[in-house]
Amino acid sequence: MLLISTILSNKHKFSDFLKNYETFVYLPLREVCFHCHAFGNGNFKSCLVKERFNSSIIVRRRNSEAYQRLNYQWQLKGTHKLPLAYALVRSEWDVMAVVKCGKQFNIRVAPKGGGHSLEKYAFGDSNSIVVDLRRLKSLKVNKAKRRVTVGAGWLLAPLAYRIHNQANVFTPLGECSTVGIVGIASGGGWGYFVRKYGLTSDNILSVKIVTANGNLVTANKKRNAHLFWAIRGGVASNFGIVTQLVLRSYTPPSAVFYGTLVYDPVQFPEVFDAWQQYSPSAPPTVTAGMTLSGKTLQVDFVDVTGLGTDFELICKKFPKPLTKSTITSTYPEFMYFVASNLAGEIFTPTTKFESLADIVNIGRESAAPVFQKRKSFYVNRKLEPTQIRMLKSLLQEKPPIVQLNFESYGGQINDLLPNRVCPPRRHLVQREGDIQGSDSKCHCG
Ligand SMILES: Cc1cc2nc3c(=O)[nH]c(=O)nc-3n(C[C@H](O)[C@H](O)[C@H](O)COP(=O)(O)OP(=O)(O)OC[C@H]3O[C@@H](n4cnc5c(N)ncnc54)[C@H](O)[C@@H]3O)c2cc1C
Repeated sequence: MLLISTILSNKHKFSDFLKNYETFVYLPLREVCFHCHAFGNGNFKSCLVKERFNSSIIVRRRNSEAYQRLNYQWQLKGTHKLPLAYALVRSEWDVMAVVKCGKQFNIRVAPKGGGHSLEKYAFGDSNSIVVDLRRLKSLKVNKAKRRVTVGAGWLLAPLAYRIHNQANVFTPLGECSTVGIVGIASGGGWGYFVRKYGLTSDNILSVKIVTANGNLVTANKKRNAHLFWAIRGGVASNFGIVTQLVLRSYTPPSAVFYGTLVYDPVQFPEVFDAWQQYSPSAPPTVTAGMTLSGKTLQVDFVDVTGLGTDFELICKKFPKPLTKSTITSTYPEFMYFVASNLAGEIFTPTTKFESLADIVNIGRESAAPVFQKRKSFYVNRKLEPTQIRMLKSLLQEKPPIVQLNFESYGGQINDLLPNRVCPPRRHLVQREGDIQGSDSKCHCG
C-alpha cells in the first residue's frame, strides 16, 4: 500500500513505474486496481467513476489469488484464457458503466454467468474485461402471478433449490447444476421436464438488458419486442448483458418417476429404432433420453406425473433389457438427484454435497476440471435402418470415452410457433448426438 501511495503522488514517475514493475499499478480505491497499459493511464478509471461504477476490478496479475479464483476454467480443452481483468459487478449500474467505458476505451467486454460455454466465450480474450455476474443474485417470487424474478448471477441448482424452498415453486431449468441461468435461458434450455413445460427460453416473460451502448432496457412482449424475441434462443451476449430475468413458475410435481432400461451396446440398432418410434409420440409428461458409450447403452424415462405412465406398457415397445430399474421420488429428492448428477461433470474433492441443503453451496468452482468436446446434431425425421447402422459404425471408430446422448423433442417444445420464440430447432423428432469426449486424451474435435 505504501508503494501505491507513492506512485499516486508522483504521477510524472508513472511511466518509470510501468517499466520497472511490469504493467501493474494499485489504486487505493476499494480493492480496485487497473492494468495501466491497457486501461490507458487512469482514464478508464475516471470513466468508471464518472459512470458511478461501485464495485471491484480485479486485474490480471502474476500470483494474484483473487484473479486465479475468478478465472477458474473447468474446461481443459483449448488454451487457458487470460482476460485483462474481472469486473465483479454488484448492480446493473456497474454493468452499464463497464460497457460504456469499455466502448470508449476500446476494451472488449465479455459477460460471464456460470462459465459453462464449452468454447469459453465468457472468458473473452487477452484484451477483454469480463463482467462477472455472480453477485447479481436477487430473487423475488410472485406466486399469485406465477413468476420469479431472478438476477443474472444464479447457477441452476442453487436457484432451483431457493425458489422451491422459498415459495414451493419451480421453473424449467437444465440438468447441470453449475450452468448459469442466462446462458441456458437465452440459448434454449433443455431439462428433464422439457416436453411438458417447454425450454427455459420459452418460459422467459421479460428481461432487463444492458445494450451495447450501455443503456438499460426492458424487453418483453410489449416493450422492445424484437429484442425479446431474439434473446429467447439467440444467446443474450449477441445483444447485450442481461442483468435480470422474469421467468414463468409452476407448482412442482408432487412426484417424479424415473425409469431406466440398460442394454448391451451391441443392441444399439434395435434399441435406437424402438426409442425413435416411441419418444416423439410419448405423452408430453414423459421425456425419454438415450445414452450410448463404449460400455453402456441406457434409455431413461422421466415422467413428471410421477405415475410412470404405464411403464410396463412402454417397456413392451422396447427390446428386453439386461436390467430395469424404477424409482419414484418427491420433487426435492429429484432435485437432489439432478444436482448430484452434474450432467457429465464431477465435483471437485473439496465440494461438500451430502444433503439437499448443500445445493446452495454449489458454485462455479464446484465442477472439477475436465476435457470436453460436444457437438450436437438435430434431425426432423426418423432414421432408416442403414442410417442407424452407419451411426453405430461411426461410434465404433471413436475411442471408448466418447458418449452419444439422444434427447427427444416434441411435446411443448414443438407446440410453440417460431414467430413467438427464436430457437430455430423446433419441430424436430429428436436431437441426435451431443457427442461428448470427457478425458484429456480425447481429441475428438
Ligand atoms: C457440463 C455441461 C452441462 C450442460 N447441461 C445442459 C443442460 O442440461 N441443458 C441445456 O440446455 N444446456 C446445457 N449445457 C449447455 C449450457 O446451457 C450452455 O453452455 C450455456 O451457455 C452455459 O451458460 P453459462 O452461464 O454457464 O456459461 P457462460 O460461459 O458464462 O456463458 C455462456 C454464453 O452466454 C453469455 N452470457 C452469460 N451470461 C450472460 C448474460 N447475463 N448476458 C448476456 N450474455 C451472457 C456468455 O458471454 C457466453 O457467450 C451444459 C453445458 C455443460 C458444459
